[in-house]
Amino acid sequence: MNPTERLDIYTPLKKYFGYDTFRPLQENIIRTVLEKRDTLVIMPTGGGKSLCFQIPALIFDGLTLVISPLIALMKDQVDGLNANGVPANFFNSSQDSNTQQSILEQVALKTLKLLYVAPESLSFLSPILNDKCISCIAVDEAHCISSWGHDFRPSYQQLGFLKEILPNTPIIALTATADKATRQDIVAQLNVPDADQFISSFDRANIRLDVQVGLDRMKKIADFVKRNSNESGIIYCLSRKTTEQVASKLKSLGHSAEAYHAGLDFNERSTVQDDFISDRIKIVCATVAFGMGIDKSNVRYVIHYNMPKNIEGYYQEIGRSGRDGLEAKAILFHSYADVIQLRKFASGAVNEKVQIAKLERMQQFSEASSCRRKILLSYFGEMLDENCGNCDICRNPPQFVDGTIIAQKALSTIYRANQKEAIGGIIDVLRGAQNAHVLDQGLNTLATYGIGRDLSWAHWQQYIIQLINQGFAEVAFHKNNALELTPLSNDVLFNGRQVKLTLPVDRTFVAKKTKDSKRKAKDKSNRVGLFEHLRKHRALIAAEKSIAAYLIFNDVSLKEMEKHMPRTAQDMLSISGVGAHKMDNYGQSFLTEINAYINQSKRGENDTFSSSYNLYKEGLSVAEIAEKRELQPTTIISHLCKKYLEGKPVDLHQFVSVEEINQVKRAKEILENPAEIKKYFVFLEESIDYGKIRIALTILEKGQMTTP
Ligand code: ADP
Ligand code: MG
Repeated sequence: MNPTERLDIYTPLKKYFGYDTFRPLQENIIRTVLEKRDTLVIMPTGGGKSLCFQIPALIFDGLTLVISPLIALMKDQVDGLNANGVPANFFNSSQDSNTQQSILEQVALKTLKLLYVAPESLSFLSPILNDKCISCIAVDEAHCISSWGHDFRPSYQQLGFLKEILPNTPIIALTATADKATRQDIVAQLNVPDADQFISSFDRANIRLDVQVGLDRMKKIADFVKRNSNESGIIYCLSRKTTEQVASKLKSLGHSAEAYHAGLDFNERSTVQDDFISDRIKIVCATVAFGMGIDKSNVRYVIHYNMPKNIEGYYQEIGRSGRDGLEAKAILFHSYADVIQLRKFASGAVNEKVQIAKLERMQQFSEASSCRRKILLSYFGEMLDENCGNCDICRNPPQFVDGTIIAQKALSTIYRANQKEAIGGIIDVLRGAQNAHVLDQGLNTLATYGIGRDLSWAHWQQYIIQLINQGFAEVAFHKNNALELTPLSNDVLFNGRQVKLTLPVDRTFVAKKTKDSKRKAKDKSNRVGLFEHLRKHRALIAAEKSIAAYLIFNDVSLKEMEKHMPRTAQDMLSISGVGAHKMDNYGQSFLTEINAYINQSKRGENDTFSSSYNLYKEGLSVAEIAEKRELQPTTIISHLCKKYLEGKPVDLHQFVSVEEINQVKRAKEILENPAEIKKYFVFLEESIDYGKIRIALTILEKGQMTTP
């Protein structure tokens, strides 16, 4: 047996992080690092890369140096570790020289386990860059080293010297970027050609994928945000201006939203970022400048207001939601205008061809009519055997229709408009619009003017986009996006070729309302669950101590507390995310809250009886009360019985006859007062229903039987 196989890596996992199990690959990676082997880790955003070096750091004697690109985020990561009782710090140019000096002293005294540092600051660490002080080097966001990658940082390129001066210190490089060229570049430049490589699955099954046509997106977003007003989310937009427009719209609707883009100064940006991380603002409307390295575990949704320029970017951005493993939503709006815009950006770029090809893959993904997750994962070289069941296509499969006539109408309009009109003009002609453009250009004289009045503007748009995607028409990007015909169009217009289209769907975010979901929604609105209760408690503590809420407990821990309702310290320690340190700091306070909640909801049960009784007093029948409260009539009857026993004036006699009461009374004597109503029901040969039996028993119990 290899010596490291015996090392106990579960105790630090539990003690510091409060977790019982490792995620896939984490254990193997950790053991490899503990064997002092160089390691390359490829895991999706939110996959759990940090533990892969944090656990070894706790076990190694000396310090683990963590190279990280973003000064702004080091503090958050260190705060997170400190909150778990892990001795960690960061070292960068924002600190004064006294602070820096004292950190170096802490390292010499071996009181620190992890030190986060930006590559630019490494030169200041030379006094400690030796085998005695450093046990391990972690290079986080390692793709920054590669000019192939999308986040190239020149300062990362000097990192090769680390292996030269510390040849026996293991290096663990971590990234979420999967492509081969970047991977090879990382190991080559870090001088770790023999690194063990661990590539985990890229599937993030907890993220629901949803793609929609970009029509009315602001309204759809407003509706969505309203329904999810307690949740944190990011809305990515293509331009700075759009981020500001979306943010101010949401603000005007009373939501807490801010814009974030590279045009804001450093302080403004860090304020927005900090406020978001600590839940002081819920929504950030941002350009892609926002998000890298943000380890906020409870981002519940990522919306793309515009289509991203490639799948890598899209996947990385949506990966910022649901890091805690709880359900999260990724909603992408795509529009034709976005594609045109993105093509403009790409044209003239050095790698224009590559960019356009990537954009086309993104577009195909957006317009696909098969499982979205399969498409995404296959892009990363991973094959899913089954459809995912958690994307819009799986949940709401598209319906195909014969679109031949629709195609003929559209294509002949393109033809008659001399292939000079963009999509909007073509739709105007089809729908017989009378706007200035149509009249100026004489489009109202075309033979096809008004032949498509039966379809809405939006539906025409969706159909024509499908025609373009299927190659029946194309966009002349250099001629004001005029629609032109293709060889395939002729087949449709002259050779009777059939065209299959999918029915446009006006997908809103509202899931079909089942009875069950209605009830759940109602439950939610009537009663504040324990989770919400604890969330409020957490916010209070966070404000009191002015720390970020997630540093106290994350949402997963609160959800588990809601589910298991821990009553003792022992119970509390079995909750995921509750380690020894957090137990000491917050455990008791949360236990007290849980107890208070349990007591309060016991009292709350009385309220459900009172609600039924109050409606009864207003003169509603049992059936009406049941309907109104979305409960079973038998439940309402039991509520009224309870009130009756409490001495409230409920006329139970209206529900049972004296004869029936007598029969139940006899059964009760013969059966010797059984507890189960079913025994009565059987004894009475099912002639009196459960509700009546219950009422009769209540009347008998109260001893108030009155004979007329
Ligand atoms: P990455 O760096 O890969 O994007 P992180 O290391 O930030 O991801 O981890 C994402 C989230 O998953 C964090 O909230 C972390 O606490 C949680 N996590 C990591 N490993 C585990 C585990 N074994 N059990 C439960 N949660 C975990
Ligand atoms: Mg990370």
